[in-house]
Amino acid sequence: MSRSAHPAGPRHADVLTEGHYSAPPADLNTLDPKVWAQTVTRDEDGVLTVGGIDVKTLAEEHGTPAYVLDEADFRERARAWRTAFGADADVFYAGKAFLSRAVVRWLHEEGLNLDVCSGGELATALSAGMPADRIAFHGNNKSKDEIRRAIEAGVGRIVLDSFQEIVRVAHIAQSEGKRQRVQIRITVGVEAHTHEFIATAHEDQKFGIPLAGGQAAEAVRRALQLDSLELIGIHSHIGSQIFDMSGFEVAAHRVVGLLKDIRDEHGVELPEIDLGGGLGIAYTSDDDPREPHEIAKALTEIVTRECESAKLRTPRISVEPGRAIVGPTAFTLYEVGTIKPLDGLRTYVSVDGGMSDNIRTALYDAEYSVALVSRTSDAEPMLARVVGKHCESGDIVVKDAFLPADIAPGDLIAVPATGAYCRSMASNYNHVLRPPVVAVRDGESRVIVRRETEEDLLRLDVG
Ligand SMILES: *Cc1c(COP(=O)(O)O)cnc(C)c1O
Repeated sequence: MSRSAHPAGPRHADVLTEGHYSAPPADLNTLDPKVWAQTVTRDEDGVLTVGGIDVKTLAEEHGTPAYVLDEADFRERARAWRTAFGADADVFYAGKAFLSRAVVRWLHEEGLNLDVCSGGELATALSAGMPADRIAFHGNNKSKDEIRRAIEAGVGRIVLDSFQEIVRVAHIAQSEGKRQRVQIRITVGVEAHTHEFIATAHEDQKFGIPLAGGQAAEAVRRALQLDSLELIGIHSHIGSQIFDMSGFEVAAHRVVGLLKDIRDEHGVELPEIDLGGGLGIAYTSDDDPREPHEIAKALTEIVTRECESAKLRTPRISVEPGRAIVGPTAFTLYEVGTIKPLDGLRTYVSVDGGMSDNIRTALYDAEYSVALVSRTSDAEPMLARVVGKHCESGDIVVKDAFLPADIAPGDLIAVPATGAYCRSMASNYNHVLRPPVVAVRDGESRVIVRRETEEDLLRLDVG
């Protein structure tokens, strides 16, 4: 498990003293299949290929930086989740991880549902033909307009996140003459083993209604009284980049406990339980994520067992993986620019992107790996820090990594596992243009989100 999987605040240690990077890996040319998209390999010239296309060709055709997404891998991961959970459960892909119309179509074709958390995500999903009843709408502060649009579109569920929202959604549904299916998101008091900024089920935070102090039970009471709401279940999302199933175990136990209380008080057995997303992926070789079928088996067993002991019918389970589907399917392709060796410290390797295309290192202290991909090298490993081109010393893409000592301007390097929360969190800081997302499959590449242009930037600047 990587250090990023532990609950730790930002670290300030500048000099590398611990962890898996303290010794260089045996061979810098080998690409660990754990962190790279499934079709990634090196061709006979040592150039990385993905989906049957080499990165030099991709860089020529699409420029750098670029997110390169392996479509076959995406579909296979989506399908693996779908198959693992089977017909008695639903898989909602968390659109915030990365959403585009092509992705929506792939999800639709592979039988997945979709979570959205803003009007923009809803519009993207609908415009690509995702049936509204397969969309769930999330968020701690949905606007009235967003709620109205979701209800008008006929979304399958709205996940209620506060007492105020229960009333808000009920009013809008009533005024639309509809009965809206809803879940209530609760916080179960579990602290997932993850970075504190992405742990979301302990109580001191903005999401959900606390189970503690009877607040969740009170929310259920209110929702059940409102005719324009159809309460179908309870929702819990305990965090992100989680490897350890024990957090889900405690969460399921507490959610089922609430279902039991609801049955005892109201005589209704809610038909669904949503356990959220948050399943971890490998960013470095030290991370050991579980396979979807193992996760499905574990979660189903936990819920079934808890329900049996509470003498409840087992509800329909849903899960919401985002990162675990899209994260491993893409890498960011950069061209190396300035190289600055700092004696006794490390060598700074600058790339043509940075915190505008990957904010996770700065935001969460996330760890990434990196490889030279336009060629192989037999040079000695050199301790490097991959940094961007932004006016900010925190503009770090990969904090500690080994690259071959002969790395040179013009080389292509790639950072794997950037499919989730990179393009979706990208910014225009320094008026840098956001990179394209290029999907590759069967020897062909296709731009699914194009590179931003200066015209795009100036279009918004109407002063
Ligand atoms: C972010 C989020 C997810 C997805 O999390 P991942 O770590 O990408 O799996 C799922 N459900 C909810 C409610 C979320 O907020």
